[in-house]
Amino acid sequence: MITLADIAELDRADPLAAFRNEFVIPDGLIYLDGNSLGAASRAALAAVEKASREEWANSLIASWNDAGWFTLPSRLGDRLGRLIGAAAGETVVCDTVSVNVFKVMEAALALRPGRNVIVAEASSFPTDLYMLEGVRGRHPGLQIRLEGVDAPRIEDLLDADVAAVLVNHVDYRTGALRDMTAFTARIHEAGALAVWDLCHSAGALAVDLNGAGADLAVGCTYKYLNGGPGAPAFVFAASRHIPHLKQPLTGWWAHARPFAFDLGFEADPGIRRMLCGTQPILSMRGLEGALSVWETVDLAELRRKSMALTGLFIDLVEEKCAGHGLELASPRAAEARGSQVSFLHEGGYAIMQEVIARGVVGDFRRPNLMRFGFAPLYLSYRNIWDAAETLRQVLADDTWRARQVEAGALVT
Ligand SMILES: *Cc1c(COP(=O)(O)O)cnc(C)c1O
Repeated sequence: MITLADIAELDRADPLAAFRNEFVIPDGLIYLDGNSLGAASRAALAAVEKASREEWANSLIASWNDAGWFTLPSRLGDRLGRLIGAAAGETVVCDTVSVNVFKVMEAALALRPGRNVIVAEASSFPTDLYMLEGVRGRHPGLQIRLEGVDAPRIEDLLDADVAAVLVNHVDYRTGALRDMTAFTARIHEAGALAVWDLCHSAGALAVDLNGAGADLAVGCTYKYLNGGPGAPAFVFAASRHIPHLKQPLTGWWAHARPFAFDLGFEADPGIRRMLCGTQPILSMRGLEGALSVWETVDLAELRRKSMALTGLFIDLVEEKCAGHGLELASPRAAEARGSQVSFLHEGGYAIMQEVIARGVVGDFRRPNLMRFGFAPLYLSYRNIWDAAETLRQVLADDTWRARQVEAGALVT
């Protein structure tokens, strides 16, 4: 039995506890959805305010130079690089994950001429697969093989025809974490490129792209990195590939000399060749504020707390909610999961609506998955206890059943 005294001790000993003060979280709310939209930091809010009032309203066009707007994509890329194991010059912040999947997969195909297969996961967040369909439409004969459709495991889909494998580091539904080093090595044995989607691992755990030998990666900044709604995504390319990268969205921000206004396109020699056009500066500034909070975060401590929070939640829910039909959908071993815990329940949508109404915010994915995300920078162990207790109360009475008839919201 876990007691409240145990919980109090965990909070007292938490080396990351002070980070909570950096965030604005509504009173009484327990926010377990940072895997979908991270919480607002004071620094991010201040950065957006300053960028709006001072840089935009007062300084207007001079800010492109004076405030360094034009170089934000690569400067932010370098700051973010520390969190994902990239060297300076290997990461650029830009566009959306969807657009970046398109660019990196096109670049990967161009790096592996003569190979006509892309491998991905049927369980992937759908936009990644939709973008692959778009890529396939441009390359007659290109085949997409899916784990879960064409074979149970990616390993069984690798052969000498495979150009690249697009793989999620952490599964967005179950939170299952792949071993990036072992998996990258296996992909390389087949002569293919390893393209990692870090949407659910960047800011959730220490990622080491170069340590793993990864080729390319994309990721999201509005989830665990707390960049703000619609904050721009990022692209990583290992330095050995950068001079050879070709992507088809050859806009002026990817040009070697954007302000020469040359007639023809010539790619930037560095990672900026993965850009396209003008970037959302206010959102970039929000992300810059958010990343300033990360400067002093010890990622080993972050991972330790994340594993402890998710493990505690599993233990408490299984202790308090036994017999109510919840089934753990995440790996039980802490090393095998990211920073989220999912449970299956056929009444999942209605239960989650009732849990949210009682001040604990998680989310729901069809057909029956309840997701809880754990952002170690702004959650306490006491939050986890209270969340599990709320779930117990919801399951113990029948109020949630009345919600089953409600129509689903546009965004779940
Ligand atoms: C969140 C997420 C996205 C989001 O894509 P956008 O184009 O930024 O909306 C894409 N892929 C995965 C795996 C995600 O988790």
